Amino acid sequence: MNKAVRIVIKGIVQGVGFRPYIFRLANRLSLKGEVYNTSAGVVIEVEGAQNVVEDFIEKIPVFPPPLARIDDIEIETCQLKERTSFKIIDSLPEEGRFVPVSPDIGICSDCLSEMLSPVDRRYKYPFINCTNCGPRFTIIADIPYDRQKTTMHKFTMCSDCRAEYSDPSNRRYHAQPDACHKCGPSIRLLKNNGAEMETSTPILQAAILLQGGNIIAIKGIGGFHLACDATNDAVVAELRKRKGREGDKPFAVMSLDLDYVQQYCQVNEEEAHLLTSTAKPIVLLKKLPNCLISAEVAPKNNYFGVMLPYTPLHYLLLAEFQGVALVMTSGNSSEEPLTKDNQEAIEKLKGMADYLLVHERDIHNRCDDSVTSVIDSKESIIRRSRGYVPLPIVLKFNLGQILAVGAELKNTFCLTKDNYAFLSQHMGDLKNYETLNYYKESIAHFKRLFRIEPEIIAHDLHPDYLSTKFAREYSCLQPLAFSLQPIQHHHAHIAACLAENGIDEKVIGVAMDGTGYGTDGNVWGCEFMLTDYSGFERVAHLKYIPMPGGDKATEEPWRMAVSYLHSVYGEAIPSRFLKRWGDEKTSFIMKMLRQGINSPLTSSAGRLFDAVASILSLRDKVNYEAQAAIELEMIADEDENSGYEFEIYGEGNVLIIDPTKTIIDIVCDMDCGIHLSVISARFHNTVLGWTLEICRRMRDKTGINKVALSGGVFQNRYLSERLKPRLKEEGFSVIFHAKVPTNDGGISLGQAVIAVRRKVMGS
Ligand code: ZN
Ligand code: ZN
Ligand code: FE
Repeated sequence: MNKAVRIVIKGIVQGVGFRPYIFRLANRLSLKGEVYNTSAGVVIEVEGAQNVVEDFIEKIPVFPPPLARIDDIEIETCQLKERTSFKIIDSLPEEGRFVPVSPDIGICSDCLSEMLSPVDRRYKYPFINCTNCGPRFTIIADIPYDRQKTTMHKFTMCSDCRAEYSDPSNRRYHAQPDACHKCGPSIRLLKNNGAEMETSTPILQAAILLQGGNIIAIKGIGGFHLACDATNDAVVAELRKRKGREGDKPFAVMSLDLDYVQQYCQVNEEEAHLLTSTAKPIVLLKKLPNCLISAEVAPKNNYFGVMLPYTPLHYLLLAEFQGVALVMTSGNSSEEPLTKDNQEAIEKLKGMADYLLVHERDIHNRCDDSVTSVIDSKESIIRRSRGYVPLPIVLKFNLGQILAVGAELKNTFCLTKDNYAFLSQHMGDLKNYETLNYYKESIAHFKRLFRIEPEIIAHDLHPDYLSTKFAREYSCLQPLAFSLQPIQHHHAHIAACLAENGIDEKVIGVAMDGTGYGTDGNVWGCEFMLTDYSGFERVAHLKYIPMPGGDKATEEPWRMAVSYLHSVYGEAIPSRFLKRWGDEKTSFIMKMLRQGINSPLTSSAGRLFDAVASILSLRDKVNYEAQAAIELEMIADEDENSGYEFEIYGEGNVLIIDPTKTIIDIVCDMDCGIHLSVISARFHNTVLGWTLEICRRMRDKTGINKVALSGGVFQNRYLSERLKPRLKEEGFSVIFHAKVPTNDGGISLGQAVIAVRRKVMGS
């Protein structure tokens, strides 16, 4: 008996060779019908003997193409049409439907070997790609994913490429960015004034210039990089100077392969796996002592951010470059978004680069390199961008259509539809005007790409965040039924952690970070809450302390040091501190504290880390977010297990963690000449100690055994690597981030799930 069915497949099924896969499968089974893309996914109509059709359906999920991800298969019976062949037909748009878009994928091994083969027609072609690799998200203007809707539309395929593109048995069948020497984009080397360099081998010339100590801006997948020889102190220092303001922020490096990386870093199995994964992220790797890489690349840091070549151009360049590694840092000035267009690069990067390596394949969507790390043998992502975005986070419940606008620093936004949460690429600091524009444009693009018209907009409780202001403006333009939902920052952190892990129940939430607006108007940042998506109860927090000068205290950790010392010693702060910071400056801060002038209260863990870093004279002023805390972590003695004293006491319904004794112990250890690395370790162990103690008390009281950890402080490897096993030893089940950042880059996901749950609850 014959049967016909219509199959709709959702997931990452476009631009990944899915239709040819179905075509081959159907032909092998001699089934008739057709397959096509719609904006809802891939649709297959197939007919033949009933048992063969059933066999076909069973086989679909068995060996899909490597980049495909099937989220859902719907099957319905339909009319037999007596078809005589199986065909791939052109894409049909469907109103209001959407399909996930593939992220950009690093060059695959097939393309790499073709590129390196002198007899291949794409020998040394810097834009070689296929359905298993190449640019995706960064070149897409709209869906369905067809060449006309990408920035490749301006290149007309030659007959050879066209033949491959049209042959379902070819690896390049419907590979939208397909191109070759004859018909595709090419590379040009420019001087920094935009003048073209006369050369037929621009990549080789660029490699020679890099070896000679020049800085070159290189157009990549999601924006420009600034590159230089990572072993050359003088040029790395020069690049740092030219990039400005960012002080000692670490630069990422790129090496040709793992063998080179192992010359300067420790690489374990999980780290190697991430380095070579299709996303090709920057992975934080422990430095080897006395390695060749310049100390200027990542000063006062025990880690390098390392990536492998992910475009064919990177690969060709590094193969010509006779060195260990190139610095590859984002091509922008301080907090501005990445530079993406050639003309823009000539204007903006001329003061930073000596030369530019450019091409004519335009970047439609900027996308920074992703940054990830391995903590406790698991991936823990820090910046989720290229190679990951726009893969959705798939939730277990329907969210409807929400826009969550995120926080402010390291921002991302999140748009949802059905049970998909589309987290944006890293946006950066919204206080920068250009970044704010980039943010607004990207929201518009995601809405269009995924056909989302938000009905709820979720934002941070902070009234002055630019994202909050944007949310208000945006909601003014919407119909009356529109709902604006303010979400507490740390509640959002924990909710993001729960959502990522598919947990939907009440947990012990531990949120530690630098800053988040509290419901009492104070600056929160070390919060223990009993929480689920619908609400939270604040059970414990670090004792409030004034931040003299408000935001200024975040930039200048010594102010927090004075605040903590003042809270312990009053006016009798040990004289050597007064000497270090200057009598006059210190008395001024003490006066602010005494009189409560411009000194908002905070329970921030980040500010306590800052204070300790400054007390230990590691850092009094920071050049980038969390620098003092990072430098404090970097010196911590791995073998020291003891901690300092602290107190916990009740105040109304909440528990207060009071670190007064901790500060006294630290000063005492300094007086005794204890090594700073030991003091740092003891301080970390103290934070660990009170976290365990509060979790125990919360479990005793409620019987709840699940602990969710979130907030930027958990990027601290020393703390995370010790806290998680300790909690597990005590029988807690520990929930932590993996693919969504624990820092504010994850906030928007938390905002979205809380907003929908509160809406459902009717509050
Ligand atoms: Zn490929
Ligand atoms: Zn061609
Ligand atoms: Fe935060």
